[in-house]
Amino acid sequence: MKKTLKVLLIFSIIILTCGIVYLSYLSVVDMNENNNETDVKGKDISKEEYIYKEDLLELGYTVNDIKIIETKISTTNVKKYLLNNKYDNLTKFVYSPYFNIENISRYENYFTKNNFSSDDTVLYVEIGLDKEFYTDITVIENYNDEDALVNKYNKLPSNITYDDLVTVEKPYSDNGKRKLRKVAYEHFVEMANAAKKDNIKLYVVSGYRTEKQQNSLFNNNVKRNGIEHALIYSAKVNHSEHQLGLAIDINSVNVKFEKTKEYTWLKENSYKYGFIERYPKNKEFITGYGYEPWHYRYLGIDIATTMYEKNITYEEYLVKYKSNSY
Ligand SMILES: [Zn+2]
Repeated sequence: MKKTLKVLLIFSIIILTCGIVYLSYLSVVDMNENNNETDVKGKDISKEEYIYKEDLLELGYTVNDIKIIETKISTTNVKKYLLNNKYDNLTKFVYSPYFNIENISRYENYFTKNNFSSDDTVLYVEIGLDKEFYTDITVIENYNDEDALVNKYNKLPSNITYDDLVTVEKPYSDNGKRKLRKVAYEHFVEMANAAKKDNIKLYVVSGYRTEKQQNSLFNNNVKRNGIEHALIYSAKVNHSEHQLGLAIDINSVNVKFEKTKEYTWLKENSYKYGFIERYPKNKEFITGYGYEPWHYRYLGIDIATTMYEKNITYEEYLVKYKSNSY
């Protein structure tokens, strides 16, 4: 019995010793595995991260730049977009809420060619303004939607038709023959009726246009005023919002309309009915069109209200509030 106990004790000691030796071995291995490089802040990092930070340093980024890059851009995107080129203003652009790493080289080019702030640079590139008007054109798929974007970068497909066009009778139009899509028609009538109560008379002088009408309108403008004027004041075929049936020229197509009480009323009230002034003054470089105080676009009350409150164009609205759709 005593002998058995002794054997058991010895056996236990052996097991215990083996256990301790094994655990010590494990911790040594562990220490070796953790013996990685340290990052620019002295913190332990994985080998993989260490490599890209070295590359960024080599490209000419400072330790501080790298800290900013690290907090704003994922490792995957750093590797995908940043390791071949030094972008001098990258650490300014990353603070824009609309920053998209895929467009970093476009930001950098646009920033160096213009005098915009880094935030505006990001916004304008996201709109597409770094590309010439009428280049890189997308064909619009959602042309049935009331918020479809039609501009110099986005064109309507050929031969589309709308089956909800309504004739705008007098006194809501100048000749009793203009047409609008139902939703724009109903809101226009509501707006004109509200305006009338304030002794303001509003009527449609141009509404829906067919592809053929838009084509001849543009060509006639070129013949009358030359290509440069035509490009600023009319749209090429399939690039006009009038073909959507949701745009209206109100009362006049003369810039003197700006001085009228009707214009003042529209400026303050049209958004309540879902209409916005689409080509405002001082935003010509964004919309691509000269100032047209008479041209209103139906976009629905929600969008029109945000645009009115923020004093922004539809192009800016789409980047700021609906960035995925742009
Ligand atoms: Zn118009």
